[in-house]
Amino acid sequence: MEKKGVILGGGESGIGTALLAKRKGFHVFVSDQNSLSSIAKDTLQKNAILWEENQHDLEQMKDAHWVMKSPGIPNNASIVTQLEALNIPILSELEFAAQYTDALLIGITGSNGKTTTTMLTHHILKNAGLHVGLAGNIGTSFARQIAENNYDVFVLEISSFQLDHIQKFAPHIAAITNITPDHLDRYENDFGLYIKSKLKIATAQQASNFLVYNADDKNLSDHILSASFKSTLHPFGFKNNEESTRQTTLSEDHIQIQNEKKTTMIPTNSFALQGRHNLLNAMAAATIADLLKISKSVIRESLSTFQGVPHRLEKVLKIQKKQFINDSKATNVNAAFFALESMEKSTVWIAGGIDKGNEYEELLPLVHEKVKAIVCLGVNNEKLFGTFEKVVDVIIETQSMEEAVKIASKIAQPNENILLSPACASFDLFDNYEDRGNQFINAVRNL
Ligand code: ADP
Repeated sequence: MEKKGVILGGGESGIGTALLAKRKGFHVFVSDQNSLSSIAKDTLQKNAILWEENQHDLEQMKDAHWVMKSPGIPNNASIVTQLEALNIPILSELEFAAQYTDALLIGITGSNGKTTTTMLTHHILKNAGLHVGLAGNIGTSFARQIAENNYDVFVLEISSFQLDHIQKFAPHIAAITNITPDHLDRYENDFGLYIKSKLKIATAQQASNFLVYNADDKNLSDHILSASFKSTLHPFGFKNNEESTRQTTLSEDHIQIQNEKKTTMIPTNSFALQGRHNLLNAMAAATIADLLKISKSVIRESLSTFQGVPHRLEKVLKIQKKQFINDSKATNVNAAFFALESMEKSTVWIAGGIDKGNEYEELLPLVHEKVKAIVCLGVNNEKLFGTFEKVVDVIIETQSMEEAVKIASKIAQPNENILLSPACASFDLFDNYEDRGNQFINAVRNL
């Protein structure tokens, strides 16, 4: 008899898992509490996969051998707890999919910098001539790619939600960019639980696997050092540890990768991205490439040709010598911190949106130093006012992107920046961060 796999959620990871499971001979049932897109329905239909929408019918799931829970569904959703009570194993997409590939896996997680580091790593590996796929929390799901492609290496961007149900998943190289409070609503408002979930990327690693992590992030390195993973640890960061034989640091204008007996120096002067945070992302990506024995010249060349990812400190236009910068993806305080830190000119800062319990105090010195005016763009801007009126004279409230861009552009003088880096989620006035960034770009173009 065919074994039965149930898939909760019919988004990209759900449909990808359904296709892979079907190909591997499972009897598959997809269930979504919301309606499925017509593309999803078409795909399921064509592959003779059964599905339901707008409900979860437990009766259809009781005989499942396993359940794949999509990352968007919280662990405490009632259908999940009911299935757990029936002792049906709950899997994540990564865990399910990884058993069907022999490809070398690289997994990148962290609170900020995942997409940039993943895409930069992929860029380097591709330039080195590897047959490499890009998957995970980005574009096409990992499961679908395994069902449809045959890559030798995968670079996976992995969110904490995708790690929640990991047990055996062990990437050959795991990287953690940093850990700062985010998404705490999904972790009982407990930062410790969130850190634990991120560290799951390394729990099944062996000594022959590597864990590349940001050692400047004290929370992260303390937790890693006390976790006693089997992985070979490779820290990176600006602080040099004299005793370490394996680490990546910055030495003047070179990324210096110490890999036991060998040291590789990669110049950063032609690195196309701005900001200290992007140097950290480059250190992580270069370390991964070095561990895979990719040549120094390919790494150097790739750093200079990587143009960055849209909506992340993206230079939009310069109008009357005023530079407009779109950092709409800065949906938390830490990301906005690095954006402000990288501003080399006086800046009009467009900020605000849905506050996720933000603590803005750490931004005060930077805002004092770099920001001449704040244009608030959100339904509720009280907290921004309350925090920053001590250090900024001009704080203005707006309710649309068009208005915010017009006002910011009036306040800025030639040779100054106008930076959209909201530090907040976008769902009060926009569909998502991409919509917010695109509206910013359009408003700038229409000035
Ligand atoms: P993620 O995929 O983790 O959300 P992104 O690469 O999309 O990360 O970047 C999200 C936001 O964080 C952007 O505003 C970006 O400029 C900023 N950012 C990128 N890398 C880092 C980093 N290493 N530390 C802090 N902020 C970062």
